[in-house]
Amino acid sequence: MKKYKNFINGKWVDARSGEVFEDRNPANWNEVVGTFPKSARVDVDDAVKAARQAFEKWRLVPAPKRGDTLRKVGDIMVARKEEIAQVMTREMGKVLVETRGDVQEGIDTAYYAASEGRRLFGKTAPSELPNKFNMAIRVPVGVAGIVTPWNFPMAIPTWKIFPALLCGNTVVFKPASDTPATATMLVEILVEAGIPAGVMNIVHGGGSDVGMAIVDHPDVDLISFTGSTNVGKKISEVASKTLKRVSLELGGKNAQVVMDDADLNLALDGVLWGAFGTTGQRCTATSRLLLHEKIYDKFMSMLVERTQKLRLGDGLKETTDVGPCVNEGQRKTVHSYVEIGMKEGAKLVTGGKVASGDGLSGGWFYQPTIFADVAPTMRIAKEEIFGPVLSVIKIKSLEEGITILNDTIYGLSSSIYTTNVNYAFKAIRDVKAGITYINAPTIGAEAHMPFGGVKQTGNGHREGGWTVFDFFTEWKTVYVDYSGGLQRAQIDI
Ligand code: NAP
Ligand code: MG
Repeated sequence: MKKYKNFINGKWVDARSGEVFEDRNPANWNEVVGTFPKSARVDVDDAVKAARQAFEKWRLVPAPKRGDTLRKVGDIMVARKEEIAQVMTREMGKVLVETRGDVQEGIDTAYYAASEGRRLFGKTAPSELPNKFNMAIRVPVGVAGIVTPWNFPMAIPTWKIFPALLCGNTVVFKPASDTPATATMLVEILVEAGIPAGVMNIVHGGGSDVGMAIVDHPDVDLISFTGSTNVGKKISEVASKTLKRVSLELGGKNAQVVMDDADLNLALDGVLWGAFGTTGQRCTATSRLLLHEKIYDKFMSMLVERTQKLRLGDGLKETTDVGPCVNEGQRKTVHSYVEIGMKEGAKLVTGGKVASGDGLSGGWFYQPTIFADVAPTMRIAKEEIFGPVLSVIKIKSLEEGITILNDTIYGLSSSIYTTNVNYAFKAIRDVKAGITYINAPTIGAEAHMPFGGVKQTGNGHREGGWTVFDFFTEWKTVYVDYSGGLQRAQIDI
C-alpha cells in the first residue's frame, strides 16, 4: 500500500502530527488505495507561508512562460492518461470511460490555459485629457486557496489550479478526502513539468480542519471552492471576515424536459446518460425528468426497460455501465431519499434498493432508481440527492415545464428535447440556469466555455472559458500623463 505525502515548499512531507487517513475503493471497500497525511492548521500555515514567498517570484515570470509550463503539464497528462484514470476509478468508483474523460478535461484545460498566456488581454481607452494614456491591465491576486469535491477529482482541480497559476498566483490545494490520490498525481505532474518550489502546494486532510484553515487564513487572498451548498455558505461566511474573494460552485437539481415533438430515442439516450452517468453523482446530473403528457406512458416504458438493463459493477471492468456510490454515507443519503419519495406518495417504478449480487456485496452499490408521478412539491423533486435516483414529473405544456424546472433553489444545468425551434428559444430565454442544452443531456461541459450556475448554485462567478481569468486576476487601472504639466480630471478650468 502506498503512503502518500503533502507537498509543501517543493518537498514531499508528512503531516506534522504524523497522523494519516485511508483512501478506500468504493467498489471494494476492503481495498485501501493508500494512506494520506491527516493534516491540521500548522501544515496549512507552512503551505501558505511557502506560497506567499513563492508568489513574489512567480508573479514576475512572464505569462507566456507560465503557459509553457502548463503546456508541459498537458503533455505529461496525455502520456499518463490511462494510469490516472485507473487510479481515479479505484478511489471513487466511476467507470473508466468517464475517468478517462475526467483526465481529458484536465488536458483540455491545460492547453487552453497555456494558450491564454499569450492573451490575458487588458484594455486601453482614450483619455478625456490631451497627452494622457489610459489602460487597464490584469495582475495576479496572490495566494489562491483551492478546495474541491471528489466527483471530478482531476477536472475540477485543473479548472481552478491551471488558470490560477497561469495568472501568476500561487496555490494551496486541499482535495476531497475521498480522492486524494488523483489530486496527488496532478501535483506530481506539475512538479515534473518544472513548477518552482512553493508555487504549488497540496495539504491533505478533512474539510473542517484543513479546508477551514485555508478559508480563514489571513494570508490567503482568494478561495475557489466547489462542493455542497451548505459548506459553500459556511465558507462564504468565514471568508467574509477577511473580505477575501470567493468563487463558489455548489449544488444542482437539474431537469430535462421532453416535449411531445421530441426525438424520443435521442431523449432516452440523453436522460440515461444524464441521470445515471457517474452514478448520478454530478452537480449537473439529471435529477428530474419533465415529460409531456402526450408521450408520458410511451417514454416511461422505454425508460424503465433501458434502465433495468444498466450493468452495475466495478468501474474498472469495461462492461460496467454504472459504478458504486462514493462511500457509505452517500449511499445512506440516497436510500433515505428513496424512503422519503415513497412516503410522499411517488410511484417507485424501478430500483429503490441497495444492490446485491455477484461482485456487488463489497462495495457501496445502489440500484438505478426511478420515481414516476412525482409532484413538483415533493422533496425528491426539489432537493439535491446526488445519487442514481430520477424523479419523473408529467407536464401539460412548455410553460408548465419551465415553471416547474425553475422551482428549486438551484440553477446549474438544464436541458430540453424538442424539434420545435420556438420551444427551444423560449427555453433558452426563460429557464433560470447557468447552462441550457438543446437536444443534449444536462451534462457535457466543455473546458473553454463558462461553467456555473445561478441562484444557490453559486455566487455569480464562472469557471472555465475566458470568464475564469477574471476571477484569478485583479484589474489595475493605469494612467500615463505625458503632458509635462498637472492635468486635473473633472475640474473646470
Ligand atoms: P462537500 O462535502 O461540500 O465537500 C467539498 C470539499 O469541501 C471537500 O474537499 C471537503 O473536504 C471540503 N469541506 C467540507 N467541509 C468543509 C468546511 N467546513 N470548510 C472547508 N472545506 C470543507 O461536497 P462533496 O460531497 O465533496 O461534493 C458533492 C457536492 O458538490 C454536491 O452538492 C455537488 O452538487 C457539488 N458539486 C458542484 C459542482 C459545481 O461545479 N457546481 C461540481 C461538482 C460537485 P472533505 O472531503 O475532507 O470532507
Ligand atoms: Mg476513495
